[in-house]
Amino acid sequence: MDKNLFQNKIIIELLEKYQSIWALDHLNKLATWDGEVYMPTKGARYRGKALAKSQTLIQQLFLSKEFINLIDLASNEDLNEYEKSVIRVLNRELEIFQKLPSKFIEKFEETVSESQIVWRNARKLDDFNLFKPNLEKIVELSKQKAEYLGYKSNPYDALLDTFEEGLTVEFLEDYFKKVTDTVTKLLFSLKNNPNYPKKDRISSLKYDIDRAKKLNESILEFLQYDNQKLRLDISSHPFSEGLSTQDSRITTRYEGFDIARTVTSTIHEFGHALYFLQHNDEINTTPLYTNYSLALHESQSRFFENHIGRSHAFFVENLSKFHKLGSEYEKFNADDYYTYFNQVQPSLIRVEADEVTYHAHIYIRYKIEKALINDEIKVEDVPTTWNEMYRDILGILPKNDTEGCLQDIHWSMGAIGYFPTYSLGTVFASQISSKLEKELSPISELLPSSVGVKKINNWLAENIHQYGATYTFGQISNRLTGSELDTKYWSDYLNEKYNKIYS
Ligand code: MG
Repeated sequence: MDKNLFQNKIIIELLEKYQSIWALDHLNKLATWDGEVYMPTKGARYRGKALAKSQTLIQQLFLSKEFINLIDLASNEDLNEYEKSVIRVLNRELEIFQKLPSKFIEKFEETVSESQIVWRNARKLDDFNLFKPNLEKIVELSKQKAEYLGYKSNPYDALLDTFEEGLTVEFLEDYFKKVTDTVTKLLFSLKNNPNYPKKDRISSLKYDIDRAKKLNESILEFLQYDNQKLRLDISSHPFSEGLSTQDSRITTRYEGFDIARTVTSTIHEFGHALYFLQHNDEINTTPLYTNYSLALHESQSRFFENHIGRSHAFFVENLSKFHKLGSEYEKFNADDYYTYFNQVQPSLIRVEADEVTYHAHIYIRYKIEKALINDEIKVEDVPTTWNEMYRDILGILPKNDTEGCLQDIHWSMGAIGYFPTYSLGTVFASQISSKLEKELSPISELLPSSVGVKKINNWLAENIHQYGATYTFGQISNRLTGSELDTKYWSDYLNEKYNKIYS
């Protein structure tokens, strides 16, 4: 990449003006991270108020005449790719801020920060009725948001677009048909295999949390993390927050048994963190350091989680680290760990789902969200609809709403329209993996050395990470693989891997 990405004088002036927006946004992210990791629960109310106010401040800065004029002026200049993208990203944010009244933004922010506390409590007490009034408010606000933002055919499109530019119901209907077809067929063939289900003796083993922490840290070391730039903490829902190319935060949780859960979530969040850490340094403090495409972001976390962390070579390389969990764990070899981490079995909790059934969880959430936004079901119908869909699609029934419709944080955060990006990112990870293996060598040959892991990380930096939001998801996909997102890479990978495991 060239030195000095930003050369145009007006762009430089615009980026200078942007510094106040960047600083507020940077501190908001830190306050959000703190809210999940350290803040005492009762702090939520005033934290929510502060975040809501500072969000409206950001909106004011965006909508100032001077800032808009600079964007307009810069648009008429002869710009390079990075500079053009600054304008593209700013125009998109500006459009949203122009369409949403500040009173609405404030109300939305306050509602969702209160709702997260209510949701946590409802989930703990397994009482959907506690959360119901908040979810009703959030669905109403989301419908209003869709009207403010505008859409061509379906109000849900407007919400999808806020997480993945241009994503529509029309696209997803066709996409999920392909994806659920693959899942259903593969699951049917696995279930009819005499080796199904695989018995594992590791998932029920208890573990010591301090040892599990050491295991996660040693795996992060294996993945070549820099502990001066990355922190691993604990939160009730694992997540990552990128603050700059010098500071990424990730979290995991420790249940005390089923060690795969904490390990896969740590590797997953590492993938998100590495994406931000490997942006070009010049992108820091500019609009190009942002969650522009959530599908692209998720492809990075799912690449590490599935294509690295669930590969056979990974367990060969890291077996001794798992053995340090205790004598019970020493009884198992790399094959046992590989089988355990790749067990296919319909289950109730999305974040713990295997690679095959994962997409069914997303599909169910997509259908429910779309129905809510289109007034086809009411909020009070959510638990029943949820349970019926789990029964019909996965053949299992939640015992309660905690392991049913209360399990995810997203709706309480007002993130209706977010879930589909999880499936898209997972599918794209296979497309990336196929390209990476063609250009470098098979992951199974790269993993056994720290040089190989570095090669993988560098390849991702060069082809994806360095650019930040310079390119859209579609552009990255086309530049890198010569086509748009294609489910074929994913279905080939999945069929090959799991037919082999169960053969
Ligand atoms: Mg993720």
